[in-house]
Amino acid sequence: MCRIGFPPRPRRAIYAAMARKFTEAKLVIASHNAGKVREIADLMAPFGVAVVPAAECGLPEPEETGATFAENAALKAREAADGSGLPALADDSGLAVHALGGEPGIHSARWAETGNGRDFRVAMEKVETALRGKTDRSAHFVCVLALAWPDGHIETFEGRVDGTLVWPPRGGHGFGYDPVFRPDGYDITFGEMAPAAKLEITHRAVAFARLVAACFGDGPR
Ligand code: IMP
Repeated sequence: MCRIGFPPRPRRAIYAAMARKFTEAKLVIASHNAGKVREIADLMAPFGVAVVPAAECGLPEPEETGATFAENAALKAREAADGSGLPALADDSGLAVHALGGEPGIHSARWAETGNGRDFRVAMEKVETALRGKTDRSAHFVCVLALAWPDGHIETFEGRVDGTLVWPPRGGHGFGYDPVFRPDGYDITFGEMAPAAKLEITHRAVAFARLVAACFGDGPR
């Protein structure tokens, strides 16, 4: 008996947009944060790319006027690429608290402003006060990396790590909101986690891995 099968399903075109490969010798890091510049330089070291901090090119720190992490990362990378004539990489990151509609989000650093510098103990207390009476304590860290070329092309990559907010803050490692963020699958906060262990699962590491796979490796995005 001849079995009549279903017609073969048309193969879904997997012509996923390929990211532009990075072939240049130099990359500007659109950040005035020495720690971030060092972190990115370390990441780029295996690819033989010379990393130039934005400050060395005399580039000013642009105002972050975007409404999203991606817009802010893109505007920082774009200004640095236009100003230097070289490809430029920027990042934007923060903590999104679900019961607060994603706040502090792109304002994560601003929530720490005291009028006398930044104090993340103050920022963590603000988050805790805003969460009072709410049962949902879930949150995630986001990092968006934007790689812009002087000809106008841009690629963006997002990394995210989900978790729960604890109170009181725990641990002396890390920075920012680390002491109140317990990543899913762990019973310690980022503040209690050894820096190398945090680096393996962090939102920044996920975004970097995507950038490297897409623009510095052979795989599609
Ligand atoms: P920016 O991307 O340097 O503007 O960082 C925004 C803010 O997000 C930082 O000042 C921190 O408060 C917060 N943030 C981003 N990533 C992390 C993290 O890995 N741990 C704790 N806080 C973070």
